[in-house]
Amino acid sequence: MSMSTSITRSTCPYCGVGCGVLIESQGQQITGVRGDPDHPANFGKLCTKGTTLHLTAAPEIARQTRLLQPMQRLARGAAPTPVGWDAALDLAAERFARTITEHGPDAVGFYISGQLLTEDYYVFNKLAKGLIGTNNVDTNSRLCMSSAVAGYKLTLGADAPPACYDDVNHADCLFIVGSNAAFAHPVLFRRIEEAKKNHPGMRVIVADPRRTDTADLADLYLPLQPGSDVMLFHGLLHIMLWEGWVDPAYIAAHTTGFDALRALVRECTPEHVAQVCGLNKEDLFTAAKWFATSPATLSLYCQGLNQSSSGTAKNATLINLHLATGQIGKPGAGPFSLTGQPNAMGGREVGGLANLLSAHRDLANPEHRAEVAALWGVPDVPSKPGKTAVEMFQAAADGEIKALWIACTNPAQSMPDQATVRQALKRAEFVVVQEAYATATTCDWADLLLPATTWGEKEGTVTNSERRISRVRAAVPAPGEARHDWRIAVDFAQRLEATLGANGVGAIGVRPEFRTTTPEATKNLERNSALTPMAEQPEKTLFPYQTPEQIWLEHRESTRGRDLDITGLSYEKLENEGPQQWPLREGEATGQTRLYENGHFPTPDGKARFAALPWQPLAEPRESRYPFSLTTGRLRDQWHGMTRTGTLGRLFGHVPEPVVQLHPQDIQRRGLKDGDLVHVTSKRGSILVPLQASSDIGLSQAFIAMHWGPEYLSGRSGAGEPLAGVNALTTSAYCPTSKQPELKHAAVKILKAELP
Ligand code: SF4
Repeated sequence: MSMSTSITRSTCPYCGVGCGVLIESQGQQITGVRGDPDHPANFGKLCTKGTTLHLTAAPEIARQTRLLQPMQRLARGAAPTPVGWDAALDLAAERFARTITEHGPDAVGFYISGQLLTEDYYVFNKLAKGLIGTNNVDTNSRLCMSSAVAGYKLTLGADAPPACYDDVNHADCLFIVGSNAAFAHPVLFRRIEEAKKNHPGMRVIVADPRRTDTADLADLYLPLQPGSDVMLFHGLLHIMLWEGWVDPAYIAAHTTGFDALRALVRECTPEHVAQVCGLNKEDLFTAAKWFATSPATLSLYCQGLNQSSSGTAKNATLINLHLATGQIGKPGAGPFSLTGQPNAMGGREVGGLANLLSAHRDLANPEHRAEVAALWGVPDVPSKPGKTAVEMFQAAADGEIKALWIACTNPAQSMPDQATVRQALKRAEFVVVQEAYATATTCDWADLLLPATTWGEKEGTVTNSERRISRVRAAVPAPGEARHDWRIAVDFAQRLEATLGANGVGAIGVRPEFRTTTPEATKNLERNSALTPMAEQPEKTLFPYQTPEQIWLEHRESTRGRDLDITGLSYEKLENEGPQQWPLREGEATGQTRLYENGHFPTPDGKARFAALPWQPLAEPRESRYPFSLTTGRLRDQWHGMTRTGTLGRLFGHVPEPVVQLHPQDIQRRGLKDGDLVHVTSKRGSILVPLQASSDIGLSQAFIAMHWGPEYLSGRSGAGEPLAGVNALTTSAYCPTSKQPELKHAAVKILKAELP
């Protein structure tokens, strides 16, 4: 008798487009996947990654890739051995408690992931900031969107992308900058292609140092020099001012700070900008005219702006253009940052970063800390900023952070400057890795491995780039002994509570010298007695959750009155009415499609703020010893470190192996030839890859895809440790405001390998 097929509605776990999927399953096995025709992000479409999702879950693949039971490594370098869940979690709690008691709460750190669901994120954030009393909780989303967060907050007053996917259909001009959406957000790109076909008058401008597949769609392609984006935006504003293309009425009514910006861009003449950016003046005029004078202009941008030592300035100065021309708050217009990961946005919502708190609150704001402490039922939330991703691994390498918990991410491949990351993992006294798959981090560095569930097996919510919250649903049970991420975090937190002796920061049993006792903390305690904390069981546990929905309800309450208020949303509404955008306040029927349509911004005076930030050169400009600008990026058919997509042969049909791409003239000038094996070397490390000629790359520039890890690339890292793919080369220099590292640029040299 054939088994019947069940259909489960869920969300693709790859990129920030957040496509809806229908998972087909028979018994305990996922057998197929289709696009959800009713999901507003994709209306049934999927890209190559999405359509092959079920194949990555096939039993023969899972047997090779999945972690199925907790494992303990008794000594570094030794093979891990199985251990029961209770013993594993007891050990973790005992080691973390000991570290906290002996060295203080800031001696531990949690490095989590934009792959986690909102509910998972929420528990980790509360565990670190509410229970342990450290803000050392950060995420791999720091590597992909923290500059967008900082840019929005600086200019518009809140971390809220004002536009939506449907704006693509209303735009007359699309300005795509620092984004290869054709590969990184394929279903959105298909929407762009269709919109352009249906609206022949639409102008598409693409600014990118590489001529990508996205650039092939452009009516105007601007091959700007790496790192010159801020100069480009200032130059466009200079032209708009000169030509009278700005919107004085909008500027006067809805913004502040324009005089300082106007003074700053005065020097950014077309001649100067053309020279710095490597562009011609005519193209600058055309871009400025199309942007400013089109009825509706939408900017789409991603890692080219974010992964930069000037990431915040790049984001904010692009937003300047929208404010100066009134291209915001109307259909088809606005600055729209695309998120790389499936739930980078949800992580921001729960404040799962070292400088944020729940519901877009700021750690630096005493009132916000007090509100969160009251909501959680703890005496206070520490004011000392936590370590961001790069800082956290540097602190571990320096011996300052002694116990690390890594969940659902692979820093031994994805972090920049791998020599430092490997030193951190080596020096940390206790490393817990909570993961679904075997990765470079689990294989080499984990003292304790905790197997987690993944797509198709877990329940919760994610938020995509357009602020749309979707349900993630389980189609099959957890394999082996794998547990849900939120469950692992809760089980650990409850043990830690017990081990430390009580609940909350004020009573965790940490030695007094490590405690934050301030008048503010006392005030919080008083507030707590006046408010009804959501976690109603302070004598028992701060983590009373039995289901992800219970966690989500607590998160929902934390958003009340905030810009992302979702008090009108419920799991039931998501079930019955499908994905919804925030804000969706109590009493409202639907969420808000686009923001700032009334010209009012969430700043103290209700006005948006121009950012007068000057252009800064790259952190590591190319020089005579390292004469190439290396950039990294995605391929169409691979995802991150290829733990899933790398298991399918068919996804290597597009690009079968890692290569370094150089312009043919550079290849000829250096006496190399296409196919040569070359050492690509930066100040931090070296890798060995085949050379490929490409006229899509500018002169003195090089490109390597980000996906291949140590198992594919050979060479040597700066510390003589095992290899780490392209991130052996990249720099951890970061934007001083967003702390996002400059993964998009490193100075390298390229030399032919001497073969035996
Ligand atoms: Fe998944 Fe992104 Fe492809 Fe949609 S576009 S199917 S979310 S990878």
